[in-house]
Amino acid sequence: MNVEFFRKVLLNWFDTNHRPMPWKGSKDAYTVWLSEVILQQTRVEQGLPYFEKFIEKYPTVESLAKAKDDDVMRIWQGLGYYSRARNMLVTAREINEKFDNQFPQDYEELKKLKGIGSYTAAAIASFAFDLPHAVVDGNVYRVLSRINAIETPIDSTKGKKQFEQLANKFLDKKHPAHYNQAMMDFGATQCTPKNPKCDDCIFKKNCKAFELNLVADLPVKEKKLKRKNRYFNFFYITDGKYILIEKRTQEDIWQNLFQFPLIETEKQFSKDELMKSKRMKQHPLFKNFKRADKKNLRQGILKQQDLTHQRLFIQFYLLKTENVKALMAEGFSFVNAELIEVHAFPKTIAEFLNGLKEMTLF
Ligand code: SF4
Repeated sequence: MNVEFFRKVLLNWFDTNHRPMPWKGSKDAYTVWLSEVILQQTRVEQGLPYFEKFIEKYPTVESLAKAKDDDVMRIWQGLGYYSRARNMLVTAREINEKFDNQFPQDYEELKKLKGIGSYTAAAIASFAFDLPHAVVDGNVYRVLSRINAIETPIDSTKGKKQFEQLANKFLDKKHPAHYNQAMMDFGATQCTPKNPKCDDCIFKKNCKAFELNLVADLPVKEKKLKRKNRYFNFFYITDGKYILIEKRTQEDIWQNLFQFPLIETEKQFSKDELMKSKRMKQHPLFKNFKRADKKNLRQGILKQQDLTHQRLFIQFYLLKTENVKALMAEGFSFVNAELIEVHAFPKTIAEFLNGLKEMTLF
């Protein structure tokens, strides 16, 4: 498609079809960065309340740099991809300490910051500083592959290079912020992944994929997503006043979030199988358990949670015990039930805790 024509028609469309969002049009690099980090792999409707909470609590990069890790994780709770929040803190502190609270006004320098890849660097460079860099997100891949009928897989090395070059060729270098936002909005609202609105599309007469009946086949992806199954058994243990929790410190999903004591198994175990398993017998917590406690352990709900590369089967067990003081003496961490909400938990555990409020368990 003719590049000049595409830009002109797209920007005309944007004049009357743009989606207003609190961060749009902002020239503040911190606001742009924060919104982009929150919206990565997240729908706008889901990300919006998180953006509002963050900008209210941490209105500047300096305030975020000085925040406590646990407070930030608590606000992030439920948004997923927790490494984004950890990287965000590293970058905020680097900008505070090394750059006097100013984001570098240079694409390559931005990319050196933790958690900032080509996409986020292009977004900050263009939206905040009007530098001519094209953003290449899922929307842009989709629109460019369809209007040009390009079948190169977008997740291949060749595809990534080809689409980045093409995106920069199409970019309106005089109005990079306006153009980038128009591309993203067009992909998100008109040229959508499923059921794109081709019938009333401004490019209907020029779109190659529409002409060749390839719309549903584009963009092409090389790799099909494979998920690994994991089986988590969480133990909600309380004496009615205190609840046993621990922090996830290992390099794994949910790093730095809190959880109940966990036994991970290689398959879904019944309660009996779990009780007899080596992992249970060797677990430091259950070694300290009285026989009566093991008998009183109740099987709760089983939940499933899908992450990008993992499918989690999460079984909750519940126990009310008088053994809490002895366990505290052994060094296990209990939190006052009234203060449980101060801690950041993975979404499934937070939902379990919410469900408990509505139930009489013991
Ligand atoms: S005609 Fe359909 S596929 Fe082509 S740009 Fe428009 S919405 Fe996308």
